Amino acid sequence: MNYKIGVIPGDGIGPEIVKEARRVLDTAAEKYGFSLEYTELLMGGASIDVHGIPLTDETIAEAKTKDAVLMGSIGGDAKTSPWYQLPPEKRPEAGLLKLRKSLNLFANLRPAYLYEELKAACPLRDEIIGDGFDMLIMRELTGGLYFGARRTVVENGVREATDTLVYNENEIRRIAIKGFDIARKRRKKVCSVDKANVLDSSRLWRSVVEDVAKDYPDVELSHMLVDNCAMQLVKNPAQFDVILTENMFGDILSDEASMVTGSIGMLSSASLNETKFGLYEPSHGSAPDIAGQNIANPIATILSAAMLLRYSLDQDAAADAIEAAVRQVLKDGYRTVDIMSEGCTQVGTEEMGARIAERIR
Ligand code: NAD
Repeated sequence: MNYKIGVIPGDGIGPEIVKEARRVLDTAAEKYGFSLEYTELLMGGASIDVHGIPLTDETIAEAKTKDAVLMGSIGGDAKTSPWYQLPPEKRPEAGLLKLRKSLNLFANLRPAYLYEELKAACPLRDEIIGDGFDMLIMRELTGGLYFGARRTVVENGVREATDTLVYNENEIRRIAIKGFDIARKRRKKVCSVDKANVLDSSRLWRSVVEDVAKDYPDVELSHMLVDNCAMQLVKNPAQFDVILTENMFGDILSDEASMVTGSIGMLSSASLNETKFGLYEPSHGSAPDIAGQNIANPIATILSAAMLLRYSLDQDAAADAIEAAVRQVLKDGYRTVDIMSEGCTQVGTEEMGARIAERIR
């Protein structure tokens, strides 16, 4: 089997971490008997430098021909980089928004996994952490409050602002289907989070999710109000497998969930559309402060590559092998500087990538 992968190295530490993710992907592909054909795509500052804009239509068209796209990260230092002298629609981040929109990436996945070896970075108490947690937040990305009509008016000298939270049942159904499909690749539990005691949009959300659940009798569905979920994430995070929620709730809950894991260099993410296609990238930014120094942690990008194998290519065994290799390297005591602790061996970006690849072989 041969797969076509678009690669956006991007800016800052992007090229360094993507190089290591590719090394790991190639090792897994060789071991599990498939091949990956990469095409490098320009986006963000790297595209501005060549084309004057952060994403060209040709790049979008090229991305659409791929099975999946792996990205490093984009953007520079807003205070010093000339990219930020440009109008907002020509800055690096505009490229990412345009790409997400053009590819109709409506489902955002952010896993929050606590590694035994990195427990010290978790801000929760030991008795709460227990044996750790492994959850995935599935956030609707293209509807809801952030995309509804908004306006600010002045009436009788008083300013009044309105934002609208709109969802139709089709938008809810397609993300619910993704959520249940992905739960089947995990521990087969979906917790749908809403505010159905107050909001009509949440009552529709709940009813459509219940409808979809009928097609997944092997997946356990529960519902939770968003305010309770915010508490439960820090009270008993191990109860969650897949958390399925709308755009704004997901925005807030996914940041909360990632904070409880402790380390920004470890957090992967994926954005999917209705097909198998997805854009896979670390949750962190381009870290211009440490770019080019071979000290960035490549693990978030490597774990994003594992998600690419699992969700876009259905190469679950290869994805498992990458995740196991990451765990083993941590167990063996290797750390990049951002997750370094006493008694461990500090390694650079390249050595971390090489050691993970070694453990896959
Ligand atoms: P950032 O995530 O790049 O960095 C925050 C801090 O975390 C920095 O101290 C950085 O050195 C550290 N850090 C981040 N990733 C790391 C890694 N893999 N290993 C070790 N340390 C790491 O956030 P920022 O500084 O606010 O943003 C920098 C640039 O990234 C901005 O231009 C921003 O717009 C962009 N950004 C891009 C994305 C994306 O491409 N999806 C996401 C967030 C921010």
